[in-house]
Amino acid sequence: MSQSRVPRPLFCGNWKLWGSLSESVALAKGVRDATAGVTAVDVAVGPGFVALAAVAEKLQSSALGVAAQDGYWEVKGAFTGEVAMAQIADAGARYVIIGHSERRQFFAETDASVARKAKAALGVHLTPIICIGETLSERDAGQALARVSSQLDGAMRELSDAELVRVVIAYEPVWAIGTGRNATPEQAQEVHAAIRAQLSRRLQGKAQEIRILYGGSVKPDNVASLMGQKDIDGALVGGASLTVESFAKLVKEGTSACIRS
Ligand code: PEP
Repeated sequence: MSQSRVPRPLFCGNWKLWGSLSESVALAKGVRDATAGVTAVDVAVGPGFVALAAVAEKLQSSALGVAAQDGYWEVKGAFTGEVAMAQIADAGARYVIIGHSERRQFFAETDASVARKAKAALGVHLTPIICIGETLSERDAGQALARVSSQLDGAMRELSDAELVRVVIAYEPVWAIGTGRNATPEQAQEVHAAIRAQLSRRLQGKAQEIRILYGGSVKPDNVASLMGQKDIDGALVGGASLTVESFAKLVKEGTSACIRS
């Protein structure tokens, strides 16, 4: 393929709970400069809320996008500690990660709240990156595909077809996140193909336009084999997005693999 692979791949960093304001701005600037020549894919960084506006301002005239790590569906009101999707968009973000397994595990995120957040994000022209994925015990019990399917079903429930084509799905097996143990390209492709098939049942040919990212211990040295798979359209990256060197290398290796495939 070519410069015009459809869907256009996306590599998005998720910095989680990392970084002071100055560290975040410096990392964003470093990634911006190191990936400036990368034009065949979209790239984004995911700072914490406190640094979101400063990072977005620094990246204003560059192609590097900014992702928030969560957001709330209400527009305003007595919801102490929450951040509205409109505030995230106003801060300059283009994407918002929703339903990350750490939010599901530690902060009681449910399929229903994921659905409301996705709807609210689309309403203010943010692109939601909706995370789904099975736990190790679900995989061991042979329930990986069923679990992912029911999470996807829950996330899609409130969305019209026109909204659904604008989302990004991130398949992140929980057992692979931050563990150094990534899914094999074949394991990932099996789930990605099932996600694509489920989207096709709603959207027919339009499902080919939806980006399905893989996430879970993606590193510069394993990204190429993952990106060689037909239904893997990029990556959501935690640990390896925390230094300029590793994230830029990962983006470049991933981009080359996309161009070859
Ligand atoms: C993530 O946080 O979404 C993630 C995939 O983390 P890691 O790359 O560190 O496994």
